Amino acid sequence: MDLYFCCACSYVFKAEIMPESCPACRQANVFASTDFGKKVELPAVRPASEAEMQAYSDAEKAAYEEKAFLEWIDSLPSYDLSDDEYHMALMLLHHFKTTPGLYTKHFIGDLLPAQKGSIEERAAQAIARILHIDVKEAFTSRINRERQDAGTNDIAEVAAQTPPDSAANVLRKFRRDEL
Ligand SMILES: [Zn+2]
Repeated sequence: MDLYFCCACSYVFKAEIMPESCPACRQANVFASTDFGKKVELPAVRPASEAEMQAYSDAEKAAYEEKAFLEWIDSLPSYDLSDDEYHMALMLLHHFKTTPGLYTKHFIGDLLPAQKGSIEERAAQAIARILHIDVKEAFTSRINRERQDAGTNDIAEVAAQTPPDSAANVLRKFRRDEL
């Protein structure tokens, strides 16, 4: 599979072989201007440039992460969680999605090796408390920012105006309004 770009409608797409015309706008040719005041006719579809390939793979990655995130969120009700645990899990998933990976790895690394009754377990509990506070604060401030941007305090309205992985949409999954 190679990546192609349509000069007529700016569509970037994957295909086995370069098509004669764009699969989105159906254009086969475009007219380009020249220094000499003469228009020239060129094929609309051409191989994508380095910058277009990079932009495409960034968009692909973001779409995959959003899909994975929404699948995790939807799978949460199948676990036997108390209300608090369920809400924390929702906020954690949202936090990890919006936080640079290193921060997440650092916390996960410190939280997971804990053995019962060990010094590491006490340290892990302290870290968990910090993470708990951090995550709640980050989630609350995210909600407030989305409310401001949307120009309303009504969470249903904010959720309708924001993407499916926004904090407002995650808040709507809460079993009761905690914030
Ligand atoms: Zn096109």
